[in-house]
Amino acid sequence: EAKGSGRGTYAQFEPRMEARLLQRMAIEEEMGRALREEQFSLAYQPLFELATGRVLGFEALLRWNHPQRGVISPADFVPIAEETGLINDIGAWAINRAPADIAGLPADLMVAVNLSPVQLKNDSTVPIIIDALGASGLAPSRLELEITESALLGDDPRIIAHLHRLRDLGVRIVLDDFGTGYSSLSYLRRFPFHKIKIDKLFVREATTRSDCAAIVTSVVELAQRLGMATTAEGIETKEQLDLVRRLGCTEGQGYLLGKPKPILAALAQLDLSAQIPVAPRIARS
Ligand code: C2E
Ligand code: MG
Ligand code: MG
Ligand code: MG
Repeated sequence: EAKGSGRGTYAQFEPRMEARLLQRMAIEEEMGRALREEQFSLAYQPLFELATGRVLGFEALLRWNHPQRGVISPADFVPIAEETGLINDIGAWAINRAPADIAGLPADLMVAVNLSPVQLKNDSTVPIIIDALGASGLAPSRLELEITESALLGDDPRIIAHLHRLRDLGVRIVLDDFGTGYSSLSYLRRFPFHKIKIDKLFVREATTRSDCAAIVTSVVELAQRLGMATTAEGIETKEQLDLVRRLGCTEGQGYLLGKPKPILAALAQLDLSAQIPVAPRIARS
């Protein structure tokens, strides 16, 4: 680690680190332009009610369609956008786009949008959400906001206050990637979430490791007692689907059931006019 080792540390930087730094600066610069030139898009992944197989709605997942680099994953650019603060603008774009895409759909489908802690700290985010709901006509109860555990790190009172304002509006607040943070349980005490999403890590290993299955069972039971729903994310096999359903997860999401796709393709892979009987339809890949 070069940090804290005083002057001359730059000379000791490995070429690989320098390359990474340069790439990062390039990404940073390009992100601003990307927003202006509409290179961002949303991919929609369906969410299912496990007991009935019914489609509940979609999670909107950010994609950067870079003219040279191709599609860049949010895992690669959201952290940089958070550092530069540009996540506020990119996030505002997503918050407007997702309700507009979903509002006109049949069956009162909901849409879930991911929010960064940076956005949640910002006082302008709640008004942006209110405006997006107003402009699209989407009922607040059809909007879910997904917040990862780390979002609440530091126990910022502004974040909690903003979450309460959103909850009071009728928006549903979801704790994402549950189990991956280091103090998952304490978040449940800080805010009354509507739903817990069990991280795909647990879903993946639940079929092969009894301890992971036990963790899923306990989270489901805990959520039930707190009056919260549970989503199993990252369902990739029939075996995983059967297991999380048997363990009592209320909702499911994963490549087996439907991959994230542009809105029209996401709709085309579902038959929204039919109730899906008991088992969710297995997606074609
Ligand atoms: P997340 O909210 O936990 O989203 C779920 C991730 O799991 C998505 O990755 C999704 O494509 C992926 N996934 C879904 N089903 C499966 C499966 O069966 N197997 C596997 N292996 N993966 C599956 P994605 O789209 O790359 O997004 C990564 C993360 O980036 C998201 O995790 C979320 O934290 C963040 N993100 C995405 N869109 C936004 C956004 O609009 N704003 C912010 N702030 N963050 C976003
Ligand atoms: Mg999410
Ligand atoms: Mg997640
Ligand atoms: Mg995640």
